[in-house]
Amino acid sequence: MQRMASLCGSSKMAAFNTSDYKLSEGTGSAQYDDVLPYKLDGEQKTKEFLMKVVEILLDFVKQTNDRNEKILDFHHPEDMIKQLDLRIPEEPLTLQQLIHDCATTLKYQVKTGHPHFFNQLSCGLDLISMAGEWLTATANTNMFTYEIAPVFILMENVVMTHMREIIGKNWRKGDSILAPGGSISNLYAFLAARHKMFPNYKEKGIATIQGQLVMFTSDQSHYSVKSCASVCGLGTDNCVMVPSDENGRMIPTELERLIMERKTRGHIPFFVCCTSGTTVLGAFDPINAIADICKKYGMWLHVDAAWGGGLLLSRKYRHPRLTGIERADSVTWNPHKLMGALLQCSTIHFKEDGLLMSCNQMSADYLFMQDKLYDIRYDTGDKVIQCGRHNDIFKLWLQWRGKGDDGFEKHMDRLMELSEYMVKRIKEQPDKFYLIMEPEMVNVSFWYIPKRLRNVPHSAQREQELGKMCPVLKARMMQEGTLMVGYQPDDRRPNFFRNIISSAAVTQEDVDFLLNEMDRLGNDL
Ligand SMILES: *Cc1c(COP(=O)(O)O)cnc(C)c1O
Repeated sequence: MQRMASLCGSSKMAAFNTSDYKLSEGTGSAQYDDVLPYKLDGEQKTKEFLMKVVEILLDFVKQTNDRNEKILDFHHPEDMIKQLDLRIPEEPLTLQQLIHDCATTLKYQVKTGHPHFFNQLSCGLDLISMAGEWLTATANTNMFTYEIAPVFILMENVVMTHMREIIGKNWRKGDSILAPGGSISNLYAFLAARHKMFPNYKEKGIATIQGQLVMFTSDQSHYSVKSCASVCGLGTDNCVMVPSDENGRMIPTELERLIMERKTRGHIPFFVCCTSGTTVLGAFDPINAIADICKKYGMWLHVDAAWGGGLLLSRKYRHPRLTGIERADSVTWNPHKLMGALLQCSTIHFKEDGLLMSCNQMSADYLFMQDKLYDIRYDTGDKVIQCGRHNDIFKLWLQWRGKGDDGFEKHMDRLMELSEYMVKRIKEQPDKFYLIMEPEMVNVSFWYIPKRLRNVPHSAQREQELGKMCPVLKARMMQEGTLMVGYQPDDRRPNFFRNIISSAAVTQEDVDFLLNEMDRLGNDL
């Protein structure tokens, strides 16, 4: 019965030996109905099974933090599918097989917490936050009512109030919610803004708005902002992309010009999204100048600080980047990015209390009864467009308890200092690296210069050549498994590398490794 046959074919990576994880004979051949909750006397088998899973997880954590381990064992999808047995069987499999499946899954997983993973805005594996996620999974509750998540709901209140106080002193009495990602947080801002301006929209629909609603965001903003225009019936043509300057910051005079242009056409400009930390360049739009314009034209100001929000925790780096944020009406801030909370953890904050509820409340009789035992203001479920809501608060609360405000401030400062170190090292090697701009955040944009282009003067044509190199060098990184750095083009230039330091694992030596490794892999390109 025991199915010990290897799920995966031979692999050169010795790292994760999936057959190392052996249960005892009795437990290994057991099945799901030999453990809790099916077998009340199955406690011993249950424990052995779960402890083995934990052993696999701890090995993964260890390898993630081991600089001699590869970040990934890359296979093309058509080969990967052959290496794996993913089929859903008709008959139950043994617990030993499930253990084997767990080990195999992690064997091929990219280690996003590895110190040489610089690929994403969410990097790193914060162990305290991870412990929180384990607990969350075990408590397995839904966040819609106090009734079934009393402690978590109170925590959410405390942490959200704390975050609002960090945004601004006048935000204490506001409202917040955790959403499944920054894109949905931005959508909540849009919905609340429209509800505030057109409270009848909820019941009467589109006909209640006599004219074309228009929203504004910079041409560097996250695509989820434009998506609001499509999802909410404006049409993407009515999400106006305001030009940005050389460094990727929205140009306020352009914003005002475009608002006037739409007004002349009889449209209704109502919403401006100001990005604090753009996804590619890490640029900060000038909040105060944009807030002045919003005030002048009676428009809602949303700050998308999904990425840059973490810097609110640093006295050194908060200003001038986020100066003026307290003037906004709403703020998106993703702890799963710069703060390193585990995925997912995204928050949306409002200065005015009550909007979320009046905008989204549907008063479902079976969940949100008005005659409950307790104060029903603690039922958050009717503030959102979801029904059930995942518990994303515990891991953040536990992490914040562990670090305190001071620990987070140190973490932010360290990420910024490491990025400054990287910029310095790039400038010290101008033959090999070309820094595209002085970054405002931990996004460092640059080209790697292979040998044959080192003596060629920089020009649009050289940029084209350097751009062509990015995917080739990235492919080599992934095949070697030693390094991951992202690349993309933008409106102004072809492909370039965008390095992100947002993991507590990274040190100066890792930054040196990164630059040396790119040179090792790419000098002959
Ligand atoms: C990442 C990001 C988002 C989207 O957040 P998700 O959690 O990935 O949905 C929105 N805005 C900005 C500026 C971002 O960087």
